[in-house]
Amino acid sequence: MAQLLLRGEQIGEPDQPIRAVLFDKDGTLSISEPMLHALAEARVFHCVRLLGEHHPEVAPGVMGELDDLLRRAYGLGDGGVHPAGTTAVASRQHNLISTATALAQVGLGWPEALALSEAVFESTDALHGTGSAHKPVATAGLHDLVERLATAGLLCAVISNDEVAGIEAFLDSQGIAQHFQAYWSAEHTPKKPDPAAVHALCHELGVGAEACALIGDANSDLRMARAAGLPVVLGYTAAWSQRPPLDPSFLQLHHWNELDLRP
Ligand SMILES: [Mg+2]
Repeated sequence: MAQLLLRGEQIGEPDQPIRAVLFDKDGTLSISEPMLHALAEARVFHCVRLLGEHHPEVAPGVMGELDDLLRRAYGLGDGGVHPAGTTAVASRQHNLISTATALAQVGLGWPEALALSEAVFESTDALHGTGSAHKPVATAGLHDLVERLATAGLLCAVISNDEVAGIEAFLDSQGIAQHFQAYWSAEHTPKKPDPAAVHALCHELGVGAEACALIGDANSDLRMARAAGLPVVLGYTAAWSQRPPLDPSFLQLHHWNELDLRP
């Protein structure tokens, strides 16, 4: 157990040492933006292509309109994705519905819009997850941080909406799996951002919520942790080309070396 220091200042309750740190994965442990960017670009490309194939009568201006609607719906910009946009934070199903909505906005009926969106996602799913050519890399300084946490005797866990296979593949690829004692994944119930997911993970670690910290790159993670009663909740901002728009009421860090431990 240890006290956590952010840029030299102690955080959390002075008489309550921290025994475990719960990390979000995408955008916190890992830099996933290049993979998400490639995925969203591919979805736009296939959606416009399929509309053209199914409706050769559609004017080029409408294809351009669809391209624009999809980019805005996905939070897709030049060279990156919006860190709080649908591609970055929403589920596959929600992204599929936004795709169908864009198709409906250019004139398709809903059943056809949904069917076309299903086809778009089926042809691009392989770009996401463990089969992706864009392998997520660890955020700068992560290896050093998890070594320091382990040396200080703290437990580490992942709380993610990825599946267990994706969590394990990332930790294994970075050689840090031995430092993580538990995961809470999309296959667990309840899922984040339900605060009960935090309590269940704390229970699995054998540590009370009052002795846990959580670090994530999305307001949904941070608000979940606050609602779960965690004494230390930190926003991590360095994994995106565009800084995530985090609620300023949360402490934030931009590099893992800003975090220190005092026994
Ligand atoms: Mg995240």
